[in-house]
Amino acid sequence: MADTDSPDYQRLVSSLDLDRKVGLLTGASTFTLAAEPAIGLAELRMSDGPTGVRGLKFSGGRTVALLPNATLLASAWDPESTYEAGQILAEEALAQQIHLVLGPTINLHRSALGGRLFEAYSEDPLLTGVLAASYVRGLQSAGVGACLKHLVANESETERNTVSSVVDEATLREVYLLPFEIAVTESDPWSIMTAYNDVNGVPASEQLHVNSEIVKGEWGYPGLLMSDWFATKSAAAAANGGLDLVMPGPDGPWGAALVAAVRAGEVAEAVIDDHLTRLLRLADRVGVLGLERSYPTGLPAPDSLVRKEQLSRLAAAGMTVLRNRADVLPLREGQPIALIGRHAIETIDMGGGSAQVNPPYQVSIAEALTGRLGAAVSVIDGVEVRTRSVPARPDFVSDPRTGAPGVRFTLLGFDGAVIEERVNAAGSTVIGFDDDLAATVHTVRLTGRVAASESIEFGVIGVGDWRLRAGDWADQFSLDVAGAGFAEEMLAPPTRTERIEVSAGDVLEATVQLAGADPDRPLAGSGLFALIARSAPQDAQLVIDRAVAAARTAELTVLVVGLTEEQETEAVDKDTLRLPGRQDELVSAVAAIARHTVVVVNSATPVLMPWLDAVDAVLWAGLPGQEGGHAVAAALFGDIEPAGRLVTSFPAEDGAAPAWSVTPVDGELPYTEGTFIGYRGYHAGLAASPAFWFGHGLGYTSWDYGEPELLSQPESSDPGGGPVVRVRITNTGRRTSREVVQVYFEPATGSQPIRLVGWAAASVAPGQSAQLTVRTDPRMWRRWDVEAGAWAQLASAGRLIIARGLGDQRGSITM
Ligand code: BGC
Repeated sequence: MADTDSPDYQRLVSSLDLDRKVGLLTGASTFTLAAEPAIGLAELRMSDGPTGVRGLKFSGGRTVALLPNATLLASAWDPESTYEAGQILAEEALAQQIHLVLGPTINLHRSALGGRLFEAYSEDPLLTGVLAASYVRGLQSAGVGACLKHLVANESETERNTVSSVVDEATLREVYLLPFEIAVTESDPWSIMTAYNDVNGVPASEQLHVNSEIVKGEWGYPGLLMSDWFATKSAAAAANGGLDLVMPGPDGPWGAALVAAVRAGEVAEAVIDDHLTRLLRLADRVGVLGLERSYPTGLPAPDSLVRKEQLSRLAAAGMTVLRNRADVLPLREGQPIALIGRHAIETIDMGGGSAQVNPPYQVSIAEALTGRLGAAVSVIDGVEVRTRSVPARPDFVSDPRTGAPGVRFTLLGFDGAVIEERVNAAGSTVIGFDDDLAATVHTVRLTGRVAASESIEFGVIGVGDWRLRAGDWADQFSLDVAGAGFAEEMLAPPTRTERIEVSAGDVLEATVQLAGADPDRPLAGSGLFALIARSAPQDAQLVIDRAVAAARTAELTVLVVGLTEEQETEAVDKDTLRLPGRQDELVSAVAAIARHTVVVVNSATPVLMPWLDAVDAVLWAGLPGQEGGHAVAAALFGDIEPAGRLVTSFPAEDGAAPAWSVTPVDGELPYTEGTFIGYRGYHAGLAASPAFWFGHGLGYTSWDYGEPELLSQPESSDPGGGPVVRVRITNTGRRTSREVVQVYFEPATGSQPIRLVGWAAASVAPGQSAQLTVRTDPRMWRRWDVEAGAWAQLASAGRLIIARGLGDQRGSITM
């Protein structure tokens, strides 16, 4: 498995003919690579990450552990947490004989509108790179490969298959490539995924400059570069540019076209040999080349006590106290609580898209607090938070044939014969994408029986020509998705609903003829299909009035608000940071009447808080994973300190940010703020100060900082290091707490941005002090000299700022 003692790749490669060599450079299926017994190569299996190992199926697959999302994990600013997450994921992978996990996602939070930021760590390249490197080490220490994604300048989703990110070379090197560089140098990830987008007019999968010259050339990267799914646009250009593997397969743009390009002399055979060597190196590292790989047994199940402890601890530790007036947090046991909000009842534990997994259970905040406090909690539903409805829940519809909870999906072929029947409790299914079906699906029939007579919302999700029926009621229409590329039909499918009256026992039936279904084109007609059925939503004003009435008599009100998978998902971006629906109105109305108001924000990324001054406390809870409710309860009561520090600045208003629009103009998205991303841009005055700075987080205590000292020499154990700073911190509060001391460098020249150069953390008991040494990262003291085409030393004139986020600076050192 290790590189020492590595096989003779050259001999193995040269034993295969050109067709076979090229054949191996395209996946064998959606998530596998082909075996080649002639050289001892077994099948290599991969699975999406980064917050769970979903397995070989795109949806409806195995039950696996759901970890806290990337921003929540990162908010602990603790490489040990990401290392542990990597180890957990490795165990989850090995339990299903998966060899490679498609994560971590290390694109940056450029504009807060980016739909996929929940998968990525931060707006800061150093924090991202360091955390990614430890995640990779955690995974790979168990012999499971990691895959950094998506290389590069892939910070938003709008027009993601065609957009060209326009980024100058210094910004590319100093900001967007830096997390990749750090992770490559510090953890040697076994693979990297190229992005969907173009970079400066060249597709990421054909980026000779990035893929070959920088990553494989300058960094000496020995691993494998794979394409994002269906992203490869060419044969010769991609192969010559440094892409090693096309995903998925078995079809794709390489195969015969690449063989022909080699025969025509457009691609040297040595290039193919290099790609295959890298693939074999990956196979060797994950143990599928040569000897048969063995897998550990007795690994913790996704719902084991071990996982419960790990996942609630990792989630709670990243939760971040944004405001805490009069120490209303932590909550005291025994206080009666009015718990209000849709997110209290339906806590959002993960983002949407390819990062989704199928967890064994999800604990809502309402369940956790009720479990802990019993009748002392009254739970009040909040306003609607979605514009689209979610698939029917298993307690609302049942299989008309067996009575089992869920929706029956009947898949019919071109001849009208039944190909397969499945009953799915999630109310949705993915068809034709990663199934092994005996024939191509032409039509799907979705059926579910309702339990009660009432007014319901009935509808469907999915592309195609639909016919709906319930008793005497019938309707028909077509649904399509705009700007579709790969997987948009699955990741952002269209929907339509109607309000109808049903009687108990009625069967809801929806039939869809798949768009473009074609027996000769394997993926034509594939997509996600769901039946929507639920009690008709209540009037929002009534909901708000009910919440206000409950808050009026309660000693303490906890409101839970947030985003949903409509905003935090793959393939679409947001257009506002406002909370969806009438949640802001709900908070303002409740806060105006409640004695004490605590708001829990259940989102991975920034939201606006127009009601901030009217509430006592705000706890940002991220997307906390399967133990979500328990983790929020532990954080609210202080069993586990929510010691998070923000990984991204929270803008004060829509548009008030150094980078905002994610909508390409004429196909281009210019990164005009250059290296002034996030807090760097706010600090330089590119936008009004944020509501909360990157690095902000109060924890449950208060701190005094001593005078910081510059240790002129880096410690001898760290010869290449940047300047080292020492500072004494004292816990002046009443609880043991973890402090994250952040060191920023503010160059004297305004042409260079302020930047985080290092941090260190310690847990300190009340009344106690700790001496913290922060070694700044040498990579933050470079600048890319465009004319010389090389790194140059950053002029060291300027100030080191010691801070708890730039909004709370505690000392400085003039350099
Ligand atoms: C995503 C990747 C993911 C792949 C496979 C793509 O849509 O961009 O991050 O790993 O699908 O599911």
